[in-house]
Amino acid sequence: MERINGKTEVFVILGQPIGHTLSPALHNAAFAALNYNGVYLACPVPEDRLSEAVQGIRALGIRGGNVTIPYKERIIPYLDGITDKARLIGAVNTLYWEEDRLMGANTDSAGFLQALQQEEPAVANYPGAVIIGAGGAAKAVAVSLASAGLSKICLVNRNRAKAEDLGRILSGLGCMVHILDWSAPNLEVALREMPLIINATPLGMSPAYPDLEHLPYQVLGEGHFVVDLIYRPKETFFLQKAKAQGCRTMNGSGMLLEQGVLSFGLWTGQEAPREVMAQVLARWL
Ligand code: NAP
Repeated sequence: MERINGKTEVFVILGQPIGHTLSPALHNAAFAALNYNGVYLACPVPEDRLSEAVQGIRALGIRGGNVTIPYKERIIPYLDGITDKARLIGAVNTLYWEEDRLMGANTDSAGFLQALQQEEPAVANYPGAVIIGAGGAAKAVAVSLASAGLSKICLVNRNRAKAEDLGRILSGLGCMVHILDWSAPNLEVALREMPLIINATPLGMSPAYPDLEHLPYQVLGEGHFVVDLIYRPKETFFLQKAKAQGCRTMNGSGMLLEQGVLSFGLWTGQEAPREVMAQVLARWL
Protein backbone atom coordinates (compact mmCIF):
# COMPACT_ATOMS: atom_id res chain seq x y z
CA MET A 1 0.00 0.00 0.00
CA GLU A 2 2.79 2.40 -0.90
CA ARG A 3 0.31 4.48 -2.85
CA ILE A 4 -1.57 5.64 0.26
CA ASN A 5 -0.57 9.11 1.43
CA GLY A 6 -2.14 12.34 2.65
CA LYS A 7 -3.87 12.94 -0.69
CA THR A 8 -5.40 9.50 -1.14
CA GLU A 9 -9.11 9.66 -2.03
CA VAL A 10 -11.29 7.26 -0.05
CA PHE A 11 -14.25 5.33 -1.51
CA VAL A 12 -16.52 3.00 0.47
CA ILE A 13 -19.22 0.39 0.07
CA LEU A 14 -21.98 0.40 2.71
CA GLY A 15 -23.91 -2.77 3.47
CA GLN A 16 -24.60 -5.44 6.05
CA PRO A 17 -23.25 -8.10 5.85
CA ILE A 18 -20.44 -6.89 3.62
CA GLY A 19 -17.56 -9.33 4.13
CA HIS A 20 -18.31 -11.23 0.91
CA THR A 21 -18.19 -8.19 -1.43
CA LEU A 22 -15.86 -8.27 -4.43
CA SER A 23 -16.07 -4.50 -4.97
CA PRO A 24 -12.89 -3.61 -3.00
CA ALA A 25 -10.83 -6.08 -5.06
CA LEU A 26 -12.40 -4.74 -8.26
CA HIS A 27 -11.89 -1.04 -7.60
CA ASN A 28 -8.52 -1.18 -5.84
CA ALA A 29 -7.16 -3.09 -8.86
CA ALA A 30 -8.62 -0.38 -11.11
CA PHE A 31 -6.98 2.42 -9.05
CA ALA A 32 -3.64 0.62 -9.17
CA ALA A 33 -3.88 0.05 -12.94
CA LEU A 34 -4.51 3.75 -13.60
CA ASN A 35 -2.07 4.93 -10.94
CA TYR A 36 -5.04 6.77 -9.40
CA ASN A 37 -4.47 7.84 -5.81
CA GLY A 38 -7.57 6.18 -4.35
CA VAL A 39 -8.51 3.39 -1.99
CA TYR A 40 -11.83 1.51 -1.72
CA LEU A 41 -12.99 -0.04 1.57
CA ALA A 42 -15.93 -2.15 2.73
CA CYS A 43 -17.86 -0.66 5.67
CA PRO A 44 -20.38 -2.81 7.56
CA VAL A 45 -23.14 -0.44 8.67
CA PRO A 46 -25.54 -1.50 11.48
CA GLU A 47 -29.22 -1.25 10.58
CA ASP A 48 -29.90 1.72 12.90
CA ARG A 49 -26.83 3.76 11.89
CA LEU A 50 -27.33 4.38 8.18
CA SER A 51 -27.99 8.11 8.56
CA GLU A 52 -24.83 8.48 10.68
CA ALA A 53 -22.88 6.55 8.05
CA VAL A 54 -24.03 9.01 5.35
CA GLN A 55 -23.14 11.93 7.61
CA GLY A 56 -19.72 10.30 8.01
CA ILE A 57 -19.27 10.26 4.24
CA ARG A 58 -19.96 13.99 4.17
CA ALA A 59 -17.85 14.84 7.24
CA LEU A 60 -14.84 12.78 6.22
CA GLY A 61 -14.78 13.88 2.59
CA ILE A 62 -15.29 10.35 1.24
CA ARG A 63 -15.18 10.73 -2.57
CA GLY A 64 -17.90 8.23 -3.44
CA GLY A 65 -18.78 4.58 -3.26
CA ASN A 66 -21.46 1.96 -3.45
CA VAL A 67 -24.47 0.83 -1.49
CA THR A 68 -25.60 -2.76 -1.28
CA ILE A 69 -28.15 -4.96 0.51
CA PRO A 70 -30.06 -3.95 2.61
CA TYR A 71 -29.64 -0.20 2.01
CA LYS A 72 -30.16 0.40 -1.72
CA GLU A 73 -33.64 1.82 -1.09
CA ARG A 74 -33.33 3.05 2.48
CA ILE A 75 -30.40 5.36 1.76
CA ILE A 76 -32.35 7.58 -0.64
CA PRO A 77 -33.84 10.02 1.95
CA TYR A 78 -30.35 10.80 3.29
CA LEU A 79 -28.94 11.92 -0.07
CA ASP A 80 -29.09 15.39 -1.68
CA GLY A 81 -30.46 13.99 -4.93
CA ILE A 82 -30.73 10.93 -7.13
CA THR A 83 -30.71 10.42 -10.89
CA ASP A 84 -33.99 10.05 -12.79
CA LYS A 85 -33.26 6.38 -13.45
CA ALA A 86 -32.56 5.69 -9.76
CA ARG A 87 -35.87 7.40 -8.92
CA LEU A 88 -37.73 5.23 -11.44
CA ILE A 89 -36.15 2.07 -10.06
CA GLY A 90 -36.40 3.27 -6.46
CA ALA A 91 -32.88 2.09 -5.61
CA VAL A 92 -29.35 3.46 -5.53
CA ASN A 93 -26.14 1.43 -5.77
CA THR A 94 -23.66 4.26 -6.40
CA LEU A 95 -22.80 7.41 -4.44
CA TYR A 96 -21.00 10.27 -6.12
CA TRP A 97 -20.56 14.03 -5.75
CA GLU A 98 -22.07 16.60 -8.06
CA GLU A 99 -20.19 19.67 -6.83
CA ASP A 100 -21.20 19.77 -3.14
CA ARG A 101 -24.27 17.52 -3.48
CA LEU A 102 -24.05 13.88 -2.45
CA MET A 103 -25.91 12.03 -5.21
CA GLY A 104 -27.21 8.52 -5.77
CA ALA A 105 -27.26 6.63 -9.06
CA ASN A 106 -28.23 3.16 -10.17
CA THR A 107 -25.59 1.56 -12.38
CA ASP A 108 -27.04 -1.97 -11.99
CA SER A 109 -29.59 -1.11 -14.66
CA ALA A 110 -27.27 0.15 -17.42
CA GLY A 111 -24.63 -2.37 -16.31
CA PHE A 112 -27.05 -5.23 -16.91
CA LEU A 113 -27.97 -3.95 -20.37
CA GLN A 114 -24.35 -3.46 -21.39
CA ALA A 115 -23.43 -6.98 -20.29
CA LEU A 116 -26.43 -8.40 -22.12
CA GLN A 117 -25.75 -6.45 -25.33
CA GLN A 118 -22.16 -7.70 -25.38
CA GLU A 119 -23.52 -11.27 -25.53
CA GLU A 120 -26.61 -10.51 -27.62
CA PRO A 121 -26.30 -7.25 -29.62
CA ALA A 122 -29.80 -7.72 -31.09
CA VAL A 123 -31.59 -7.79 -27.74
CA ALA A 124 -33.30 -4.42 -28.29
CA ASN A 125 -35.18 -6.05 -31.19
CA TYR A 126 -36.52 -8.86 -29.01
CA PRO A 127 -40.31 -8.77 -28.68
CA GLY A 128 -40.21 -9.31 -24.93
CA ALA A 129 -38.90 -11.03 -21.84
CA VAL A 130 -39.96 -13.02 -18.79
CA ILE A 131 -38.47 -11.77 -15.52
CA ILE A 132 -38.63 -13.95 -12.41
CA GLY A 133 -38.60 -11.70 -9.33
CA ALA A 134 -39.74 -8.17 -8.54
CA GLY A 135 -37.08 -6.98 -6.05
CA GLY A 136 -34.39 -4.35 -6.55
CA ALA A 137 -32.42 -6.25 -9.18
CA ALA A 138 -35.57 -7.21 -11.10
CA LYS A 139 -36.60 -3.54 -11.17
CA ALA A 140 -33.19 -2.45 -12.48
CA VAL A 141 -33.26 -5.12 -15.18
CA ALA A 142 -36.88 -4.51 -16.17
CA VAL A 143 -36.40 -0.74 -16.47
CA SER A 144 -33.28 -1.24 -18.59
CA LEU A 145 -35.13 -3.59 -20.95
CA ALA A 146 -38.19 -1.35 -21.22
CA SER A 147 -35.94 1.67 -21.87
CA ALA A 148 -34.07 -0.32 -24.53
CA GLY A 149 -37.34 -0.80 -26.39
CA LEU A 150 -38.69 -4.24 -25.45
CA SER A 151 -42.43 -3.89 -25.78
CA LYS A 152 -43.66 -6.76 -23.59
CA ILE A 153 -42.47 -7.90 -20.16
CA CYS A 154 -43.95 -10.84 -18.22
CA LEU A 155 -43.34 -10.80 -14.47
CA VAL A 156 -43.46 -13.80 -12.11
CA ASN A 157 -43.05 -13.14 -8.39
CA ARG A 158 -43.97 -14.83 -5.12
CA ASN A 159 -45.46 -11.58 -3.82
CA ARG A 160 -47.92 -10.54 -6.54
CA ALA A 161 -48.40 -7.00 -5.21
CA LYS A 162 -44.69 -6.27 -5.76
CA ALA A 163 -44.95 -7.53 -9.35
CA GLU A 164 -47.95 -5.24 -9.86
CA ASP A 165 -45.97 -2.26 -8.50
CA LEU A 166 -43.16 -2.98 -10.95
CA GLY A 167 -45.75 -3.51 -13.68
CA ARG A 168 -47.04 0.03 -13.17
CA ILE A 169 -43.50 1.45 -13.60
CA LEU A 170 -43.06 -0.52 -16.83
CA SER A 171 -46.48 0.50 -18.17
CA GLY A 172 -45.41 4.10 -17.58
CA LEU A 173 -42.48 3.41 -19.91
CA GLY A 174 -44.88 2.25 -22.63
CA CYS A 175 -44.34 -1.46 -22.05
CA MET A 176 -47.09 -4.09 -22.17
CA VAL A 177 -47.00 -6.03 -18.88
CA HIS A 178 -48.31 -9.46 -17.94
CA ILE A 179 -48.25 -10.63 -14.33
CA LEU A 180 -48.03 -14.42 -14.19
CA ASP A 181 -48.61 -16.96 -11.42
CA TRP A 182 -45.89 -19.54 -10.77
CA SER A 183 -48.16 -22.47 -11.44
CA ALA A 184 -50.45 -21.13 -14.14
CA PRO A 185 -50.42 -22.54 -17.68
CA ASN A 186 -49.83 -19.01 -18.98
CA LEU A 187 -46.34 -19.17 -17.43
CA GLU A 188 -45.62 -22.04 -19.82
CA VAL A 189 -46.98 -20.03 -22.75
CA ALA A 190 -44.90 -16.97 -21.82
CA LEU A 191 -41.72 -19.01 -21.40
CA ARG A 192 -42.29 -20.63 -24.78
CA GLU A 193 -43.00 -17.34 -26.57
CA MET A 194 -40.58 -14.88 -24.98
CA PRO A 195 -36.99 -15.28 -26.23
CA LEU A 196 -35.37 -13.74 -23.13
CA ILE A 197 -35.82 -15.33 -19.67
CA ILE A 198 -34.18 -13.80 -16.59
CA ASN A 199 -33.87 -15.03 -13.02
CA ALA A 200 -33.68 -11.96 -10.76
CA THR A 201 -34.23 -13.84 -7.48
CA PRO A 202 -31.62 -15.46 -5.23
CA LEU A 203 -33.16 -18.89 -5.96
CA GLY A 204 -30.20 -21.06 -6.90
CA MET A 205 -27.67 -19.39 -4.59
CA SER A 206 -26.82 -22.59 -2.80
CA PRO A 207 -26.90 -23.52 0.01
CA ALA A 208 -28.89 -20.57 1.37
CA TYR A 209 -31.70 -20.81 -1.23
CA PRO A 210 -33.38 -23.71 -3.03
CA ASP A 211 -33.03 -24.12 -6.79
CA LEU A 212 -35.59 -22.96 -9.36
CA GLU A 213 -36.89 -26.48 -9.77
CA HIS A 214 -40.51 -26.12 -10.72
CA LEU A 215 -40.28 -24.35 -14.06
CA PRO A 216 -41.49 -25.98 -17.31
CA TYR A 217 -37.96 -26.15 -18.75
CA GLN A 218 -39.17 -28.46 -21.53
CA VAL A 219 -40.66 -25.47 -23.41
CA LEU A 220 -37.25 -23.78 -23.73
CA GLY A 221 -35.06 -24.32 -26.78
CA GLU A 222 -32.36 -22.97 -29.07
CA GLY A 223 -34.21 -19.71 -29.67
CA HIS A 224 -34.02 -18.72 -25.99
CA PHE A 225 -31.44 -16.56 -24.27
CA VAL A 226 -31.51 -17.35 -20.54
CA VAL A 227 -29.90 -15.11 -17.92
CA ASP A 228 -29.32 -15.60 -14.20
CA LEU A 229 -28.22 -12.53 -12.22
CA ILE A 230 -26.48 -14.87 -9.75
CA TYR A 231 -22.72 -15.18 -10.31
CA ARG A 232 -21.90 -17.55 -7.43
CA PRO A 233 -22.26 -20.39 -8.31
CA LYS A 234 -21.16 -19.65 -11.86
CA GLU A 235 -23.79 -21.94 -13.32
CA THR A 236 -26.98 -22.32 -11.32
CA PHE A 237 -29.42 -25.20 -11.67
CA PHE A 238 -31.58 -22.77 -13.72
CA LEU A 239 -28.76 -22.15 -16.22
CA GLN A 240 -27.82 -25.84 -16.34
CA LYS A 241 -31.39 -26.81 -17.21
CA ALA A 242 -31.61 -24.07 -19.86
CA LYS A 243 -28.29 -25.11 -21.39
CA ALA A 244 -29.45 -28.72 -21.52
CA GLN A 245 -32.43 -27.51 -23.57
CA GLY A 246 -30.05 -25.87 -26.07
CA CYS A 247 -30.52 -22.26 -24.84
CA ARG A 248 -27.74 -19.68 -24.86
CA THR A 249 -27.01 -18.59 -21.27
CA MET A 250 -25.33 -15.82 -19.29
CA ASN A 251 -24.67 -15.48 -15.55
CA GLY A 252 -24.47 -12.31 -13.43
CA SER A 253 -20.71 -11.71 -13.57
CA GLY A 254 -20.95 -9.42 -16.62
CA MET A 255 -23.52 -7.24 -14.85
CA LEU A 256 -21.30 -7.09 -11.77
CA LEU A 257 -18.37 -5.96 -13.90
CA GLU A 258 -20.28 -3.38 -15.92
CA GLN A 259 -22.00 -1.77 -12.92
CA GLY A 260 -18.53 -1.36 -11.38
CA VAL A 261 -17.11 0.11 -14.59
CA LEU A 262 -19.94 2.68 -14.70
CA SER A 263 -19.60 3.57 -10.99
CA PHE A 264 -15.85 4.07 -11.38
CA GLY A 265 -16.47 6.47 -14.26
CA LEU A 266 -18.93 8.50 -12.17
CA TRP A 267 -16.46 8.94 -9.30
CA THR A 268 -13.28 9.61 -11.22
CA GLY A 269 -14.39 11.01 -14.58
CA GLN A 270 -11.98 8.48 -16.08
CA GLU A 271 -12.59 5.43 -18.20
CA ALA A 272 -12.33 2.37 -15.97
CA PRO A 273 -9.75 -0.29 -16.89
CA ARG A 274 -12.38 -2.91 -17.81
CA GLU A 275 -9.87 -5.66 -18.70
CA VAL A 276 -8.08 -5.40 -15.35
CA MET A 277 -11.41 -5.46 -13.52
CA ALA A 278 -12.60 -8.47 -15.56
CA GLN A 279 -9.41 -10.33 -14.64
CA VAL A 280 -10.02 -9.63 -10.95
CA LEU A 281 -13.52 -11.08 -11.20
CA ALA A 282 -12.30 -14.09 -13.16
CA ARG A 283 -9.80 -14.77 -10.37
CA TRP A 284 -12.40 -14.55 -7.61
CA LEU A 285 -15.45 -16.14 -9.21
P1 NAP B 1 -34.35 -8.39 -3.29
O1 NAP B 1 -34.61 -6.96 -3.58
O2 NAP B 1 -34.31 -8.88 -1.90
O3 NAP B 1 -35.43 -9.25 -4.13
C1 NAP B 1 -35.46 -10.64 -4.03
C2 NAP B 1 -36.45 -11.23 -5.03
O4 NAP B 1 -36.36 -12.65 -4.95
C3 NAP B 1 -37.90 -10.87 -4.73
O5 NAP B 1 -38.60 -10.85 -5.94
C4 NAP B 1 -38.35 -12.06 -3.87
O6 NAP B 1 -39.73 -12.33 -3.96
C5 NAP B 1 -37.61 -13.20 -4.54
N1 NAP B 1 -37.38 -14.30 -3.59
C6 NAP B 1 -36.50 -14.31 -2.55
N2 NAP B 1 -36.57 -15.51 -1.91
C7 NAP B 1 -37.51 -16.23 -2.56
C8 NAP B 1 -38.04 -17.54 -2.36
N3 NAP B 1 -37.59 -18.33 -1.37
N4 NAP B 1 -38.99 -17.99 -3.21
C9 NAP B 1 -39.45 -17.20 -4.23
N5 NAP B 1 -38.99 -15.94 -4.45
C10 NAP B 1 -38.03 -15.47 -3.63
O7 NAP B 1 -32.93 -8.84 -3.91
P2 NAP B 1 -32.23 -8.24 -5.20
O8 NAP B 1 -31.29 -7.17 -4.81
O9 NAP B 1 -33.28 -7.97 -6.21
O10 NAP B 1 -31.31 -9.49 -5.67
C11 NAP B 1 -31.88 -10.59 -6.35
C12 NAP B 1 -30.73 -11.45 -6.93
O11 NAP B 1 -30.01 -10.71 -7.91
C13 NAP B 1 -29.71 -11.90 -5.90
O12 NAP B 1 -29.35 -13.23 -6.19
C14 NAP B 1 -28.54 -10.99 -6.13
O13 NAP B 1 -27.30 -11.59 -5.80
C15 NAP B 1 -28.63 -10.79 -7.64
N6 NAP B 1 -27.99 -9.52 -8.06
C16 NAP B 1 -26.95 -9.61 -8.93
C17 NAP B 1 -26.31 -8.45 -9.35
C18 NAP B 1 -25.17 -8.56 -10.31
O14 NAP B 1 -24.41 -7.58 -10.45
N7 NAP B 1 -25.02 -9.67 -11.00
C19 NAP B 1 -26.75 -7.18 -8.90
C20 NAP B 1 -27.84 -7.14 -8.01
C21 NAP B 1 -28.44 -8.33 -7.59
P3 NAP B 1 -40.80 -11.61 -2.98
O15 NAP B 1 -41.02 -10.25 -3.56
O16 NAP B 1 -41.99 -12.48 -3.09
O17 NAP B 1 -40.18 -11.59 -1.61
